[in-house]
Amino acid sequence: MNSDPLTLKTAQDRGSRAALRQLTQMLDLPRLQPGWVWLAGAGPGDPGLASLHTLSAIAEADVIFVDALVNEALLGLARPNVKIVRAGKRGGKPSSLQSEISYQLVSYARRGKRVLRLKGGDPFVFGRGGEEAQALVRASIPFRIVPGVTAGIGGLAYAGIPATHRDTNQAVTFLTGQGADGRIPDLDWAAIAKGSPTIVLYMGRKHAGEIAARLVAAGRSLSEPAAIISNASLENQSVRICTLAELGAAAAGAETPAIIVIGENVRLAKGLDWLGALAGRTLDPDPLNRDRLRDAG
Ligand code: SAH
Repeated sequence: MNSDPLTLKTAQDRGSRAALRQLTQMLDLPRLQPGWVWLAGAGPGDPGLASLHTLSAIAEADVIFVDALVNEALLGLARPNVKIVRAGKRGGKPSSLQSEISYQLVSYARRGKRVLRLKGGDPFVFGRGGEEAQALVRASIPFRIVPGVTAGIGGLAYAGIPATHRDTNQAVTFLTGQGADGRIPDLDWAAIAKGSPTIVLYMGRKHAGEIAARLVAAGRSLSEPAAIISNASLENQSVRICTLAELGAAAAGAETPAIIVIGENVRLAKGLDWLGALAGRTLDPDPLNRDRLRDAG
């Protein structure tokens, strides 16, 4: 873990922090108190997706433990003398031991600090927030969980793909593409292929091809649509739409972080890619060919 409070651009004029405090008071929201730990989600990237609870905690905290995928622009709201600890877990890059992070959260709280653990997306979705919260419970540290917009929902929305849609999928399954050992998780892939019309894969880039092959072996169509959304909700977001047959190759060439979605709901992107529309693309009013089929019939 390393900390560099010096390079941080904080809200020196106090104006933004004062405004946040006013908002939380007006809405009668709780504030991060000394001796407490808040485990908060920062959303997938766009700082506008962080909740008021999360922003308020950033503005109040004495020490902030930041995940690798958190948009650090948010830290501009922190106090000038805040201690920032980068405690991210990121495949292939130096990471901090989970037990060490939990230990630090507890020890800062015991010293009466206001402690914020800031995580990408939602802290309880593939984010080990549960493990850290358990450590706080064992140490009798008071805590609050602040949910965040998870990449598997918010990232899809930024690609114009609804997580569910009546015409395409009445269920959605969230999966991690790799287990703690880095391998494909030991799941009943045939059951998933059968029972999950839409599959959202976190950390799925590495094994995307193998996962697609398992789904196809269990009966999914090679031509089923999939999308890979890289850097979702950030300025450099990119979306690749492909088929299940092409998924492995497409994922290999995609930037990370990437969220992958497999299912018929991906077709809706043609009609709902609102970011593309902002950039001048024309949206298809009938992305599922419903009206066209009806007219022809
Ligand atoms: N707690 C987080 C997930 C952490 S696991 C959440 O709720 O979103 C890390 C994985 O999340 C990445 O491998 C990627 O699959 C996904 N992810 C997180 N942020 C993302 C982003 N901005 N764009 C695309 N995928 C993202």
